[in-house]
Amino acid sequence: MKALRYTAIGQAPEVVDIPVPTPGPGQILLKVTAGGVCHSDDYVMGLSEEEYTGAGYPLPMTLGHEGAGIVHELGEGVETVKVGDAVAVYGPWGCGYCHNCSQGHENYCTNAAALGITPPGLGTDGSMAEYMLVDDARHLVPLGDLDPIKNVSLTDAGLTPYHAIKRSLPKLGAGTFAVVIGTGGLGHVGIQILKALSGATVIALDVSDEKLELAKHVGADVTLISDASAAEKIREITGGLGANAVFDFVGAKPTIPLAVSVAGIDSDVTIVGIGGGDVNFGFGTIAYDAAVRVPYWGSRSELIEVLDLARAGKIDVEVQEYSLDDGARAYADLAASTIRGRAVIVP
Ligand code: NAD
Ligand code: ZN
Ligand code: ZN
Repeated sequence: MKALRYTAIGQAPEVVDIPVPTPGPGQILLKVTAGGVCHSDDYVMGLSEEEYTGAGYPLPMTLGHEGAGIVHELGEGVETVKVGDAVAVYGPWGCGYCHNCSQGHENYCTNAAALGITPPGLGTDGSMAEYMLVDDARHLVPLGDLDPIKNVSLTDAGLTPYHAIKRSLPKLGAGTFAVVIGTGGLGHVGIQILKALSGATVIALDVSDEKLELAKHVGADVTLISDASAAEKIREITGGLGANAVFDFVGAKPTIPLAVSVAGIDSDVTIVGIGGGDVNFGFGTIAYDAAVRVPYWGSRSELIEVLDLARAGKIDVEVQEYSLDDGARAYADLAASTIRGRAVIVP
């Protein structure tokens, strides 16, 4: 089968021919219908050899931590799904046994590292291939009638903002303000989740007019170029009070201080992006009672909820399709920041 693999540090991924895997006991083989391209893949492929191997990533590795497929073959003992089922892959695999996993929060599994359990595409071979192995039926969620190409990215670009936003919803009633920094793959879905679930006025920031046009298109109430004047404009829009929640889907050197500076009293500052930024904060440098969070991905039940939002017509992912053979180009376009919404690879 064809697979898009990261084969050499610092090189573009390439399509190679590898054997179709055979599902062992408890495993499921999917015929992949779609795999989403995330900026985190770009981050991983940007690591030095030391950082890459130090983080435990194998080489070669099939990319793709957003996946959807049709159940193709069952390993011994699998009973909860059947051949032909349309499914989405819940990516943050955990042990299924610890306290966090027991609550469906496998994204915060406390045993995964010790057991060598890694997500598909981020340690284990992922979805950018004609077939992929899933280690347990627990890591599949029914997709039903949802179009896999349009919705595969909800497994990360939907689930991650959903998890980030859900915990701040009590602070986002009518008359409140939410700021979204970065309106790419995650951000443009985050805006739609905020509009669907909260009463907040959504202020979206990005670096170009094209990106802000997408933000407007998906429902942002106000759009601003993310520059040195943005903080003052947000203060003005919020009547001097600052925002009730700020979601930073960039997490870079300029954006995290911006996020903190526009946070109002008792607000949440949620840093989702892993762009290498940080901030010092303490008494006097952030509004009173503001909280800073760094969430990772989301829970299995939240993935079911995000898919339900899509089914209800409340989320529409902007998708740019690529073939597997064209996979390297998808990553080049992502790095060049020319993708509108999410790039999706269709084998
Ligand atoms: P993306 O490339 O699709 O979108 C990033 C957007 O940020 C682009 O629209 C870009 O123009 C914009 N941007 C860049 N610099 C900016 C600035 N200074 N101000 C405002 N906007 C700016 O990326 P993505 O796939 O949506 O991922 C976003 C980030 O989230 C990445 O860092 C990714 O690694 C991270 N991520 C984190 C998690 C998690 O669980 N915490 C999960 C998925 C992705
Ligand atoms: Zn991701
Ligand atoms: Zn666990």
